Amino acid sequence: MALIWLDGTWLDQSSAKISVLDHGVLYGDGVFEGIRAYGGKVFRLDEHLDRLWDSARAVRIEIPYAREEIAGAIRQGVTQSGLDDAYIRPIVTRGVGDLGIDPRKCPRATVIVIVDRIAIWPPERYQQGLTVVTAATPIPQRESLSPRVKSLNYLPHVLAKIEGNNAGADEVIMLDASGYVCEGSGQNIFVVKRGLIRTPPPYAGILVGVTRNAVIELAREAGHEVREEIINRYDVYTADEAFFTGTASEIAPIRSLDGRPVGAGKAGPITLDLLDRFHILVRR
Ligand code: PMP
Repeated sequence: MALIWLDGTWLDQSSAKISVLDHGVLYGDGVFEGIRAYGGKVFRLDEHLDRLWDSARAVRIEIPYAREEIAGAIRQGVTQSGLDDAYIRPIVTRGVGDLGIDPRKCPRATVIVIVDRIAIWPPERYQQGLTVVTAATPIPQRESLSPRVKSLNYLPHVLAKIEGNNAGADEVIMLDASGYVCEGSGQNIFVVKRGLIRTPPPYAGILVGVTRNAVIELAREAGHEVREEIINRYDVYTADEAFFTGTASEIAPIRSLDGRPVGAGKAGPITLDLLDRFHILVRR
């Protein structure tokens, strides 16, 4: 069962409740993170907290706790959960206000940390690869709500995921308004062609993933050239290998896009090698 830290108090799943007048509920007005712990040790906590604070700052929410307090709650939750491998979900909402949209009516942000487990796909997908389709729902325009903000406004990604479900696919890729490939419903994407590894750059309409950054480091350490470059569907269709990265997803091979096999139509050797290296890194 999930363990929840709600504004300083530890609660179980049935007793952790927030107000219906919280603007996180009324307007999706808030930000969050998704973090994993392996063997009881939190992976790249600093990077996740940096991103949480940047997301909050970008939408002008003041987090009413010191960074060390949130870090402490996360570490304590992992220990208390007794889970060897845990998934941690910190959430900061604008807080309780009235029915109007004005954030000035919300004097204090609500902070929640949920500690639980997560599994998005069955384990065999990590060998077989995922079937993926292109969603018609685009990534939000950069100057509307920056895709770099990990906000509680996930509806475009949810709509894309529904399209994938309707098509019977494991996952989707989302494009920007110009048709460039951005990311999955909750993952960054990489393509491999003749040994060269490419992934869209931070300005391309992506959430800059902590896993993405770790995989870039691992790939470079393994001697691969990695470029952060705009890609389109042609690059995925013609790739030797493609894979997703994300905290919940880890490294997930793509076996097909829009019914076309990617590479050999299964997890490729570079993808599997990076997956091995990733498993070693997170337990180091
Ligand atoms: N893009 C989106 C839209 C996401 O929700 C996530 C998951 N947080 C990612 C990419 C991957 O980011 P990370 O590796 O930090 O989990």
